[in-house]
Amino acid sequence: MDISVIVPLYNEEESLPELYAWIERVMKTHNFTYEIIFINDGSTDNSWQVIEELSRKSDCVKGVKFRRNYGKSPALYCGFERAQGEVVITMDADLQDSPDEIPELYRMIKEDGYDLVSGYKQKRYDPLSKTLPTKLFNATARRVSGIHNLHDFNCGLKAYRKEVVKNIEVYGEMHRYIPYLAKNAGFGKIGEKVVHHQARKYGHTKFGLDRFVNGYLDLITLWFLSRFGLKPMHVFGLLGSIMFMLGFLSVVIVGGMKLYYMNNAMPYRLVTESPYFYLALTLMLLGTQLFVAGFLGELISRNAPERNNYLIEKEL
Ligand code: UDP
Ligand code: MG
Repeated sequence: MDISVIVPLYNEEESLPELYAWIERVMKTHNFTYEIIFINDGSTDNSWQVIEELSRKSDCVKGVKFRRNYGKSPALYCGFERAQGEVVITMDADLQDSPDEIPELYRMIKEDGYDLVSGYKQKRYDPLSKTLPTKLFNATARRVSGIHNLHDFNCGLKAYRKEVVKNIEVYGEMHRYIPYLAKNAGFGKIGEKVVHHQARKYGHTKFGLDRFVNGYLDLITLWFLSRFGLKPMHVFGLLGSIMFMLGFLSVVIVGGMKLYYMNNAMPYRLVTESPYFYLALTLMLLGTQLFVAGFLGELISRNAPERNNYLIEKEL
């Protein structure tokens, strides 16, 4: 099979027939063998009935229905699990992404050898309250992930080599960072294609402004995981040591000052009156705590089943 199209959807009943017809038209024109996997993410409207209807009409339509709304990432995860095509395309259900882009995306993966090609909605038809923070968000994501050529991490329209989707794990709300996940898994040839974007025709957006707060937190998590995920002691141990040493230095200062004053028969203060006493206390306690956190981290990562999972590209 050439192409799997994965469509996560949440209450998009009006768009589905149109989207399906459009994808089918593109596939037929280019003679692709394909499947469309609709992941109904706990819709409360008639989306599932529409999908059932479509799958009765066509063998290429597959559907998964979640019992409740889990989110876009879980939907993509289940789609990736099921995808059988050589090239996997993800697209939003709301008709904001155009299926006309599929053939070129397919070509870029197959002929130009990209592992992942992300759409870039250069001209967006979204409100300013969304496009402006998005610019900032993408700039940060570029810096942190080191993928400097991507302008639009969170574009719903993306194409993947099959091997990529089978070897990354999207969870939580990590769909915003799939290129970063792919890069961390060793799929570094990541490209971009300018795609057409349309205003939402039906329904309304499913994400609020909290997407940006959560997006930043997730980015920090991913950065941490990719740097220290398998060696937590290297970060906690270092921080812990620094703190403990500063604390120890404070102890030396407090004790030294007291001894000095006593030896020279000068009036001396109680150690608890010195600010260094409190510094010493806090820093040594925090330092020890960080060290313990490092040990706990090591215990946890020791139990991680994937700690020795390496993606081998070739072997002779
Ligand atoms: N979506 C989903 N589960 C959710 C939220 C959204 O499957 O919990 C789907 C939604 O139906 C759409 C896609 O994810 O197909 C992108 O959502 P939306 O268009 O609301 O996001 P935006 O375009 O505003 O970024
Ligand atoms: Mg949308």
